[in-house]
Amino acid sequence: MSEFRTSAIGGGDASTPDVENVIVIGSGPAGFTAGLYTARANLSPLLLTGNEYGGQVSITYEVENYPGFPEGISGPELVEKMKEQVEKFGTRVEFDYVSDIQTDVHPFIVRTANGREFAAKSIIVATGARPRYLEIPGEKKYAGRGVSYCGTCDGFFFTGKDIVVVGGGDSAVEEAIFLTKFATRVRIIHRRDELRASKILQKRAFENPKIEFIWNTVVTEILGDADGKVSGVKTENTETGEKGELETEGVFIFIGHLPNNELLIGKFHLDEDGHLITDRKTRTNIPGIFAAGEIADKVFKQVATSVGQGCSAAMQTEKFLADLEDQGYPGHEDPREFYVLEKTAA
Ligand code: NAP
Repeated sequence: MSEFRTSAIGGGDASTPDVENVIVIGSGPAGFTAGLYTARANLSPLLLTGNEYGGQVSITYEVENYPGFPEGISGPELVEKMKEQVEKFGTRVEFDYVSDIQTDVHPFIVRTANGREFAAKSIIVATGARPRYLEIPGEKKYAGRGVSYCGTCDGFFFTGKDIVVVGGGDSAVEEAIFLTKFATRVRIIHRRDELRASKILQKRAFENPKIEFIWNTVVTEILGDADGKVSGVKTENTETGEKGELETEGVFIFIGHLPNNELLIGKFHLDEDGHLITDRKTRTNIPGIFAAGEIADKVFKQVATSVGQGCSAAMQTEKFLADLEDQGYPGHEDPREFYVLEKTAA
């Protein structure tokens, strides 16, 4: 069992509790919302940001579909506002990457890349997702040398250049539109003959004179020049099998995302795509551990939905901690016994 002493909820020195009431893992919209709600419930949450501070929204040029910002707001600005808001209510935001969660003890043990160790009565997992790779020759070799997964980060370097975007979803089309601010021409290479992206983005892309489409085509290899920079791509038509080559100075890849689940494998129930499985109350298979945002969402993946899930997870956590205090301590071999029983009955 854990060597950590269990403190009462809200008791002790709130700034450095022996055992955290709740640790939020992740600093995207889901994590920050979980931090906000648990802070306002006087739980003094600790939020560990992970390596990608702000999550995917932090590399989004403009968020136009999050209510309250009729003019739109840049991703980094939204992240800063969320951080400011959670800190105002007492969330401790710390820049560290969680490398392990020990779930066979309670309080749980959370270990970080900086060698720190925390005990926590509850955890909200909001580790999000990351870009999917094409996994073709040249992709790794030319990453950062013409291959990019982030228009917001790298667009400027392609000023006056001719580039391609791979993918047909919202990300590909939105980023392609953004990249026309810099590039002379943006060709979207998509493996089918229709886009998956929302109609409004499609309309904007079709009307943009700098955007062209190459349909029914996949990129099979990324080519480079003598300086080690991208010079072109090899392609293949998905209908006819015809092979081709295009000259380009930049390849932006937006073909979906993979859940950041390394921490969870072997301990949590994951679906076939690696998302954390939760019930409608954001509960994972481990009592006291909840999840929110893209780590547990293979369908919606919006800032607005992640915020909602972060709120739900925080409210469930609050309830779990209150029940734990009322029913879990002392006298139970596993202090979460009550919760397991409740969950079985639900
Ligand atoms: P996505 O919707 O999963 O789209 C991925 C695209 O990449 C699809 O067009 C897919 O083709 C293509 N693709 C997948 N694997 C491929 C491969 N190996 N080779 C070539 N093409 C491949 O991913 P996303 O665009 O990143 O969006 C993820 C989620 O975030 C979505 O729910 C989206 O609505 C949301 N999002 C919303 C906004 C917004 O509302 N402004 C912005 C960005 C993202 P197929 O179409 O043939 O499957």
